[in-house]
Formats: sequence, C-alpha cells, structure tokens
Amino acid sequence: MKVPKAGAVAAVIGLSLTASGCFGGGDDDKGTLSIGIKFDQPGVGMRETDGTFTGFDVDVATYVAKELGYKPERIEFKRVDSSDRELLLQYGEVKFVAASYSINDKRKEKVSFAGPYFLAHQDLLVRADDPTITKAEDLNTKKLCSVTGSTSAENVKNKLAPKASLLELLGYSECLVALQDGLVDAMTTDNSILAGYAARKGNQGKFKLVGLSLSNENYGIGVKKGDTALQGKINTALKKMVEDGSWDTAVKKNFGENYKSEPAPPITSGS
Ligand code: GLU
Repeated sequence: MKVPKAGAVAAVIGLSLTASGCFGGGDDDKGTLSIGIKFDQPGVGMRETDGTFTGFDVDVATYVAKELGYKPERIEFKRVDSSDRELLLQYGEVKFVAASYSINDKRKEKVSFAGPYFLAHQDLLVRADDPTITKAEDLNTKKLCSVTGSTSAENVKNKLAPKASLLELLGYSECLVALQDGLVDAMTTDNSILAGYAARKGNQGKFKLVGLSLSNENYGIGVKKGDTALQGKINTALKKMVEDGSWDTAVKKNFGENYKSEPAPPITSGS
C-alpha cells in the first residue's frame, strides 16, 4: 500500500518539515531538561510551524518541569513516536516522556510511569460522509490505519477487529492523510487525539469521530525504569496541578468545547 508523503502530511496538519527528530546532547551539563513529546498531534502534543509547542501534554510537561525547578526556557522538547518511547527512556535521551502514553504492564517491563494524569478512550475517525462504520466489528471488512507500537494497533489485532486490513504507520498524521486520500476507510486511536485532528483548522467538516469507547487509556509520564525518586516528584507535581486548577484549565484550553473529557484520574503509580 502507498504510504503518504511527508509533504502531504505536513499540509494536512500544518506541521513544520524542519521539525527535528534528532536526539543527543547530555542534558545536565547544559542545564536543560529533555522531555519527549509528540510533534504531530494537535491538542495533545504539537510542534507548530513557528517552532512553538502546544497541547495538553506540553502543558502538563511544562507544569511538571516547573515543579522540578526548570523554567520553560530550560526545557528541550524532543520528538518521540509511539514506537520509540521505551527506547528513548532506556537510553536516557529524554528525562521523561509525556506523549499520550498509556500505562500498561507490557511497557512497565521496560519503563516506569508516574500518574495517571488523563483518561482517554480508543475511538474511530472516518470521513464525514461515510455512514458505513458505526461499530468496531464493521472494520473487519475495511481498511484501517493505526500506528506502530501503539495500544490502538494492538487492540485492533488482538480483539477489536482481527480481520481488518491494518496499515501501521509511524504517526497518526500519516494515517490522517491516508484517510483523507481514501487509502483507508478509518483510523483508530484515542478519542483525545482524533478530536484534535477533526477540530484542526482546515480539517473541519472533513472527518467525524464515531463516538465509541473501545478501551481505557490511562496516560502516564514515562521515566527510566526504577527511577522512583523522579516518579515520586512527578506524582507530587501532577497532584498539585489538579488541586490548583491548572489541570482543568489545560483540559479546557486544549480539547475545546465539544470534547467530553473524563475527570482527572486518581494518581496510583508508585504507591
Ligand atoms: N495511548 C495510546 C498508546 O499509548 C495511543 C496513542 C499513542 O500511540 O501515542 O499507545
């Protein structure tokens, strides 16, 4: 199957092609804090064309960094993809990852999590004029796109629609292009991410969320496995963010009016 070109991806989400996915540089000597985020998920983790970073994960990461003693100018956001989050933490390329990163047992074998700090649900995004997909089983006769290394792709293969023809790409913005161009009939991941694409300027009216709740995705902040000290500090910061109202403000700002968000989940990790 044809994979969307980078230029098309950039056009559909307004992504800067100069966005760097390079890693490197020791952090502590420069006095900066390296944080892994997504670069192509509007409302969640996004590198805008002017080089600024937006999204709920960015706001959470910035708040946590402040509590750890790092002003925004000392943060270095690095791009992570769904498939390399564990690796970048294991190699110390980033101090923590805030990237729509669901806590699960398989990942906990390789990394530790603070949180959870957000609850999302897996859903489907289809073209606005498509009435044929209303439930997960409908996908068994359809072409579907999701992302390598995500729980969304795993859930499709293991339980939701094992017979679907599943195209797995590097990021969700590539899936969105495939959906727009008719290469696939649907894309699947967390409703938080899908809502961001549907609401993005230029995409309005083109796509719709089916409105299913196919899983519980508890987002955690990934840290190096066994770093209980950092995990504890991040948990304290996340609790404070909820208590002082910043969490609510960030949800409203990033997910907009139409998104039905869940309340802040209780922090359970590390206890
Ligand atoms: N929350 C899911 C996951 O961690 C899907 C979103 C993503 O791939 O970042 O796999």
